Amino acid sequence: MSRGEIDRLSFRVEFSIKCPRCDRPVPLDGPLESVVCGNCETDIPFEQEYWVERITDACRAMREVNVGQGTASMILGTYNGNLSLARFAPYCDECKTDFDPSWTDSVDSQYKCSSCGVEYPVLIPPVWLKKAIPQIDYLINALTVSESLQKPDTSKPVVVSCPSCAAALDVDGSTRFVDCGYCNSQVYLPDSVWMKFHTVKRKRRWFVVCKEKP
Ligand SMILES: [Zn+2]
Ligand SMILES: [Zn+2]
Ligand SMILES: [Zn+2]
Repeated sequence: MSRGEIDRLSFRVEFSIKCPRCDRPVPLDGPLESVVCGNCETDIPFEQEYWVERITDACRAMREVNVGQGTASMILGTYNGNLSLARFAPYCDECKTDFDPSWTDSVDSQYKCSSCGVEYPVLIPPVWLKKAIPQIDYLINALTVSESLQKPDTSKPVVVSCPSCAAALDVDGSTRFVDCGYCNSQVYLPDSVWMKFHTVKRKRRWFVVCKEKP
């Protein structure tokens, strides 16, 4: 048991629901008040109460397991989904190194993994959540504002050269096939360019850190 676990309860969360419209999984990367399905673009709202119940239940469940153990459950109700929890002190998801004990210095900014340099946001929970569950101190690597609400930024065109004639192509992310105005080739944009506009959403693992009940 690491030192941080003595006076804190922290656990890892992986959560996704099925989109009520298209049934595809939608990751819940934090206690978000709405998410947008990456497949059908339906806006899926969450009541604050929904999160308060999920996280209260999660805290209760994680108090009952040992460090390193977890639970996986099907969530049925407003939305159907899968929730997996594991009692761990915060660690780097990239290289699996535990956070240094000084990670609490990074509140409201990014903790940088001392081993691989990947950064993780360390947040104070949103006011409504902290009010409902006062023992929650921090959220790590969680989103509190949905990233999927951000539309591709088409205001800054990326310049790519046509592979056939080397002319500059104007690319704005609206389509992956771009017609070259000079040689009429149809250019299929490589991942490196396409991903500048369309970040692939991968499910984040996030951590909830609570005070142990006095
Ligand atoms: Zn959908
Ligand atoms: Zn790391
Ligand atoms: Zn061309």
